[in-house]
Amino acid sequence: MPIATQTLIENATRPGAASSSAPRLGGPALNRRKLPHSVIVRAPGLLPMRYSPSELARELGVPARVVRGWLKRGMPHERSPQGHLWIDGRACFRWLEAERKDSTKHALGTGEAFCFGCNRPTAILDPVRRTGGKWIRLSGSCPVCGSKVNRGVRHGQP
Ligand SMILES: [Zn+2]
Repeated sequence: MPIATQTLIENATRPGAASSSAPRLGGPALNRRKLPHSVIVRAPGLLPMRYSPSELARELGVPARVVRGWLKRGMPHERSPQGHLWIDGRACFRWLEAERKDSTKHALGTGEAFCFGCNRPTAILDPVRRTGGKWIRLSGSCPVCGSKVNRGVRHGQP
């Protein structure tokens, strides 16, 4: 398996990865961090009441593991004395909105890739260029944590 493919699969199966769809090779690196469309449409309709993680998943049309990923990433929740998790519908909506805005802040600068080790854009150390179809793939490593990083760029882009 090519290294680039392997890295993408590892990233997609990391706990907390929000998207259930397979990442497109060569696509913009941040697509898989986008919220599923059903979430964007349904989250504003969440009520100011407590939802269990599975109720929330059903309301938003996502698998329960997506909600668990959000909780790990810091979605506000309460834990009952019995150990059950509860999420306030309005707090959930506000958190999702903030996440959505935050992901657009991660726009990559020239020569940068998104590092899943640091969870932020980083320079690409020792970039290797590979061309395939419409895309050029830059593969290298993060100068901070050493994780493999990839970036797809279109021909003619830096
Ligand atoms: Zn890093």
